[in-house]
Amino acid sequence: MKLGSHVSMSGKDMLLGSVEEALSYGANAFMIYTGAPQTTRRKDIRELNIEAGVAALQAHGIALEDVVVHAPYIMNLANPDPEKRAFAVRFLTEELQRSAAIGATQIVLHPGAHVGEGAEAGIAFIVDGLKQVFENTEALSIKIALETMAGKGTEIGRSFDELAAIIEGLNHHPRLSVCFDTCHTHDAGYDLIDNLEGVLAEFDEKVGLSRISVLHLNDSLNPRGASKDRHANIGFGHIGFEALHRVLTHPTFQEIPIILETPYVTPNDESKDKVLPPYRHEIAMLKRGVFEPNLIESIRLGK
Ligand code: FE
Ligand code: FE
Ligand code: ZN
Repeated sequence: MKLGSHVSMSGKDMLLGSVEEALSYGANAFMIYTGAPQTTRRKDIRELNIEAGVAALQAHGIALEDVVVHAPYIMNLANPDPEKRAFAVRFLTEELQRSAAIGATQIVLHPGAHVGEGAEAGIAFIVDGLKQVFENTEALSIKIALETMAGKGTEIGRSFDELAAIIEGLNHHPRLSVCFDTCHTHDAGYDLIDNLEGVLAEFDEKVGLSRISVLHLNDSLNPRGASKDRHANIGFGHIGFEALHRVLTHPTFQEIPIILETPYVTPNDESKDKVLPPYRHEIAMLKRGVFEPNLIESIRLGK
């Protein structure tokens, strides 16, 4: 099992710091943003400290296939404004180049939001934009993993049909894959709790399970179908530990990186400062396979 979390890449250490953070959680996979996810400001490739980071990966037996990059949220390939779409194409092209320089083999992408134009128009824009990005990066082998979305606002990718339409539009491009997010699919209405096999069978029929290249394992703060996209700690949301553990151990996900994007914990109930990373505890709990009701307390106590 390749299990880890998103980690930061910042400061002087950059990639080396990311590897060290992942190791501190007992992870053997991780996900990074090449800069703050809400911005498109990025450091030069030479400042990412790639050599030292890759040496640390090798020293600790983490494969580059298990280092996942996530593209920033704010670029929108489905934007009806042609200038904004052109910007997204340019930026995503550069993100692929940065990620490939690190040695990552895939980058997760939120397909886009149609902002009122309708899903069909949005999907056509996404297909067109991705075509250009693939052309711009022909020499690279890095994949783009379209994420299953919660359906918040006008997000595209809320249904397997929408993802299938994008993949179809790109003639089943070999560099296109899927990131399956449990919080998002649950929020979009798929029943992971009582019908995991049915959900995966539907995915297989419409998209193909072999397209999934990364799993985002998150609980959800909201009931199924809420279209909210608010992540909860493992076992502390509406999906629950048992259902998430069944996903984690399902044969479909055994060869691919599994990434936690659960929220940081506050020091106490009154505080709003999410400062304590839950990942070491959540990874250990998931590996044990037994829900720990006192998990949040243990994190607060630093145990
Ligand atoms: Fe995401
Ligand atoms: Fe996600
Ligand atoms: Zn999310």
